[in-house]
Amino acid sequence: MKCIVCKRDAEVKIIASFCSDCFINHYERRVERLIKKWRLANKGDRILISVSGGKDSLSCAEVLYRLRNKFQYEIAVLNLDVNISQCSNERTKKVVENFCKERNIPFYFTSFAEYLKISEIDKLFKISRRPVCGTCGMIKRYIFNRFAYENNFNKLATGHCADDIIKFFFKNFESGYFSWIDKLKPITPSFHPKVITRIRPLYTCLEIENYAYVKFKNIEIATCVMCSYFTRKDKWDEIFRFIDEKKPQFKLNFVRNLAEVEIKGIKDMKEEKKEYNECEICGEITDKKICAVCNLKSKILKKN
Ligand SMILES: [Zn+2]
Ligand SMILES: [Zn+2]
Repeated sequence: MKCIVCKRDAEVKIIASFCSDCFINHYERRVERLIKKWRLANKGDRILISVSGGKDSLSCAEVLYRLRNKFQYEIAVLNLDVNISQCSNERTKKVVENFCKERNIPFYFTSFAEYLKISEIDKLFKISRRPVCGTCGMIKRYIFNRFAYENNFNKLATGHCADDIIKFFFKNFESGYFSWIDKLKPITPSFHPKVITRIRPLYTCLEIENYAYVKFKNIEIATCVMCSYFTRKDKWDEIFRFIDEKKPQFKLNFVRNLAEVEIKGIKDMKEEKKEYNECEICGEITDKKICAVCNLKSKILKKN
């Protein structure tokens, strides 16, 4: 098996065969094209990258670091400890901090407990009626957004890749939620000064490509055993593995088309008249009087 670019021995085959150097090049050029096409990053942008220590978010940080001079933006990294005993560990913070130190990237760290000023994070999850992953995601989005505007960032980058986007699409499509489909794009622009623009530079990268990228670049990762691709036993993952075998191009074609498509006529009726205001307690943008995070916090305070 030879590299399709330089004809040396190939080291990886995902759709096409590459040696490690040509793979890295191919991966970074693809992200670069996406950034250009969707204007994800512009001169003078201050981009905060959400890094959990896994392969996806570290790939995102590395590739944005590599392209920073080309597009003339600034980057910084935020590592957020979720304070769930199965997910958080000492090593994660060190891995992310070292990654930043080696590249001279400003590194920020906070945790659910520290940022929300709540010592019993476990209670937060118990009180919430959502599943743990849903509550965790909601709080993460809240903290990343606030942290970004409090520290003068105008964009927030996450390591969501094609696999995440497609899985999200099918899961929600099946359960009848359509309103967020517009958000499954490479960029979700801000509609309010307190809502930071979100960018997804790895939108057209596969999870398995991120894995190869960090491996070839010798980037140390700290994998959470709860959320790892290789341990996850979701039925959708099995379905997509089967699709990968039969139609290796499917995922890439899917996200490329999803990025372009405008879905009209199936929006949630509720969503259309949504009004936004500032949360009475914390000032974050919400469609209710009190935002979901403050609502959870107040329930805990009442119980104590
Ligand atoms: Zn090559
Ligand atoms: Zn609030």
